[in-house]
Amino acid sequence: MRATTDWREKYKALEAEYEKLLAENKTLKEELESLREQLQKTKKPERPAASEAPSTLEEAPAPITTTEELRETLKRLVTKIAMILQAEKCVIKLYDKETGELVAQPPAFGMTDEEVRMYRTRATQGISGEAFMSGQPIVVNDALSDPRTTKEFVGLLGIRNSLTVPLIVERRDEDGRVIDRISVGVLKVFNKRYGGKFTDEDVRLAIVLARSAASVIAQAKLYLEALEEKRQLEATLESMLVGVLAVNNRGRITVLNHVARQLLEIPPDNSVGADYKEVIKDDRVRELITKTLESGEELVEELAFNVGENERYFQVQTAPITGDNNEIIGEVTILSDITELKRLDQMKTDFVSHVSHELRTPLTSIKGFVATLLADTEGYYDLETRREFLQIIDQECDRLTRLINDLLNLSRIESGRALELILKPVNVVDVARKIIEIQKNYTSKHQFVLDVQGEVPTIIADEDKVDQILTNLISNAVKYSPNGGEVRVTIKEDPETGGVLTAVKDQGLGIPKDVLPRLFQRFYRVEGRKISGTGLGLYLTKHLVEAHGGKIWVESEEGKGSTFYFTLPPAPPQKEE
Ligand code: ADP
Repeated sequence: MRATTDWREKYKALEAEYEKLLAENKTLKEELESLREQLQKTKKPERPAASEAPSTLEEAPAPITTTEELRETLKRLVTKIAMILQAEKCVIKLYDKETGELVAQPPAFGMTDEEVRMYRTRATQGISGEAFMSGQPIVVNDALSDPRTTKEFVGLLGIRNSLTVPLIVERRDEDGRVIDRISVGVLKVFNKRYGGKFTDEDVRLAIVLARSAASVIAQAKLYLEALEEKRQLEATLESMLVGVLAVNNRGRITVLNHVARQLLEIPPDNSVGADYKEVIKDDRVRELITKTLESGEELVEELAFNVGENERYFQVQTAPITGDNNEIIGEVTILSDITELKRLDQMKTDFVSHVSHELRTPLTSIKGFVATLLADTEGYYDLETRREFLQIIDQECDRLTRLINDLLNLSRIESGRALELILKPVNVVDVARKIIEIQKNYTSKHQFVLDVQGEVPTIIADEDKVDQILTNLISNAVKYSPNGGEVRVTIKEDPETGGVLTAVKDQGLGIPKDVLPRLFQRFYRVEGRKISGTGLGLYLTKHLVEAHGGKIWVESEEGKGSTFYFTLPPAPPQKEE
């Protein structure tokens, strides 16, 4: 009894299998039939109508939108082609513009992914290259002895014979005339089953199959490339430091990067596609967008935004996007951070007023003393007083000269000209001693200390420039200690370079921590101090030190005083030609 049941079940299973095979056979037959029909048509001399139905090999009309779908499509394609042509293997190789190679695309039929990965040849070499370049199919009956085959792959893939057809995409005009034929790669089938050879009929079939395959792949590739481009564009937009926002003429946001999103406080979800009037809460920006969309005008405005705790300035620019017939199809808004520019601008404005002040003060003083002396025809002032007046005039002239030198140096640096160094042996201690003597004339509130530690080496430097560096630092030490105190200049050998390390220390106002990084910027002045100056001294000093290959830095505590350090190497570095 049992045995009979077993047989019945087996019979049923076999019957089902047979049905399945019959059905598969039917589909294959139908496909073959339709391909034959197509083949017949292509043999006809008249060209096919442009609106002709797609071939059976063309997949469902839905476009391929992911790499996964492309893989699936390829798999179906190569399997079908291999079955129709009765080949053991089938693979599609596509031309890679960047490397100039024909690269096998996974998945292939009858080949492992690893074999596919290795299978790439130059687009000018071998059978694939010949078919690709000439646009003609090639049959190889004995791969091993054929001189044109690439033996490396004949061995690797166990190839006996092959059929290679170019994959050609045709572009047609509206009337269906071919206007362009582009080779995108080759279709390869290997090893005719049952010990056979590829026939002329196979070649014709393969050409039709290749044509369908080429158009499917080309479309998919184009789509995926466009997708990749879009992804890259989005990544670029996201990494931009300016805010970008685009709105179409129906008021929907089409582009929005994270800077714009943050600035306009737009929630991260569902903002693209949303109505800008609903999601942009900032009236000023919304109005600019509306105006541009309505009038097509390009608008620019400088607006202040609160970013975290700070107020930052942005230039908000709106411009229309126009279509083919000049109609407005949308607008784009660019938000660029101009806080730094504005600050620099303000600093420049302040600078001009500081310079005017710095010029006028000594001039007023000179004019005053000269007028007094000229008016004294009677000899009212004694010789000593006159000498005192003349000394003040002399010092004020020096102050003017220094200011004008600073301005000249600034313009030299700004125009990119290097500071020219006139080199000779310099003893920094001697220079410091001379400057301290001069500075003593300007103040009675400060005590100067020159602290020379150990042997200080003589260096090769520009003495005038070393003079300017020390003058700037020591006069600042005096100027920013309005209540007096000690100004200590310490000089010693720099253990790191074998040059000279100098420190200028005062007991004055000190510098707030948060502005320390900006101290050496041009025009920068600590706000709220009623002490005149231009904001140029430290900027120029840094240039002078660095022109010698040295370094400058500062340590300071507000209210306690500051120490400016600078090093000068034994000699400036050789300039590269
Ligand atoms: P200026 O003295 O003409 O303003 P500087 O470039 O020499 O320009 O200095 C920049 C700013 O640094 C000054 O405005 C001042 O506030 C601060 N500064 C410089 N030296 C000292 C110092 N020794 N102590 C305190 N503040 C200083």
